Amino acid sequence: MYNFTYHSNSARVIFGIGKSHLLAEEIQALGCSRALLLSTPEQRADVERQETVLGPLCVGIFANATMHTPVEVTEQALDYYQRIGADCVVALGGGSTIGLGKAIAYRNDAPQLVIPTTYAGSEVTPILGQTADGIKTTVSSNKILPEVVIYDAQLTLGLPVAMSVTSALNAMAHAVEGLYAKNRNPITSLMAIDGIRALHRALPQIILQPDNLEARREAQYGAWLCGTVLGSVGMALHHKLCHTLGGSFGLPHAQTHAVMLPHTAAYNQDAAAEWLRPLGDVFGSDLGAGLYDFAKDLNAPMALRDLGLSESDLDCATELALRNPYWNPRPLESAAIRDLLQRAWSGDRPVNGGL
Ligand code: NAD
Repeated sequence: MYNFTYHSNSARVIFGIGKSHLLAEEIQALGCSRALLLSTPEQRADVERQETVLGPLCVGIFANATMHTPVEVTEQALDYYQRIGADCVVALGGGSTIGLGKAIAYRNDAPQLVIPTTYAGSEVTPILGQTADGIKTTVSSNKILPEVVIYDAQLTLGLPVAMSVTSALNAMAHAVEGLYAKNRNPITSLMAIDGIRALHRALPQIILQPDNLEARREAQYGAWLCGTVLGSVGMALHHKLCHTLGGSFGLPHAQTHAVMLPHTAAYNQDAAAEWLRPLGDVFGSDLGAGLYDFAKDLNAPMALRDLGLSESDLDCATELALRNPYWNPRPLESAAIRDLLQRAWSGDRPVNGGL
């Protein structure tokens, strides 16, 4: 633990209820005055409210952000950015909208300001996943990392409970994999543990009372920590499987992470017991089973078959996930991974030893 390299991604992070009112100030502090606002079609009304507040600092809205960042949508947005003479992008939304802002910045180095409204964590990573001709690829660059992030829990009150749960489990998955990352370090491990604890405390309260601002604030704090871990250290089997299931079989992002996390944690927990042990007081001594029970109590989706995956796709998913070798604390064993996917497909409780 005492030999490590710590690399921090530099971004300005503003955290607090109501802080989105600082957006105009932050645009100007970047030396910008012509913002293009981005959202999904579903969040157009939210971004229009920001347009009203920004007045002349906003020169246009592009409300067609799409999951998995299709390159043709990026090209339309880039064309619009140039036509209206924008000088920065403001992404208001979840990973899909943030992905569009990143894709624009990757191509023209536009400064990015982000107001995240889910817990996926993309706003604090220099990573962009984009899709062309049905294939999702990932690139990493300093140009992709947003310059300013404003976390305002007020804007997460509308996130439906089911999506809050799956998005928060997506965030926890970054932290679990961060704990056993090959390039883990004491700072990312502190963030991972605190992030998981915050989400673990917040989620049951959000279910009982979705407009509980304090619980929303705590979940957002956890999401920031877990996202920062994702942006700082390498991920392993869990993210590879979810990337494969999303990219090649069209499964929805956050829900897939939610279903897979107990199973991938169970797969790795013996090999990574030393690094995962701090989670014992949150989920008990059997991490996979503890995560499974936690997700079940939150009414999260529990089975890949309920997300639209056919049982006949499991062999192919196993093969795709093993095609390019990558680091994982436990060696990648084809039969065990096929078995893991079978249990995740059926929604069975994972079986494993203890931490
Ligand atoms: P999303 O951005 O696709 O949002 C899902 C839906 O919820 C959208 O319709 C959105 O408009 C709506 N929504 C978001 N916030 C809302 C709110 N507060 N109230 C009401 N509706 C709201 O979902 P996501 O899970 O945040 O993002 C998934 C995408 O992000 C995937 O493409 C994934 O690959 C990417 N991602 C990338 C990274 C990275 O570091 N590059 C990290 C995490 C996720």
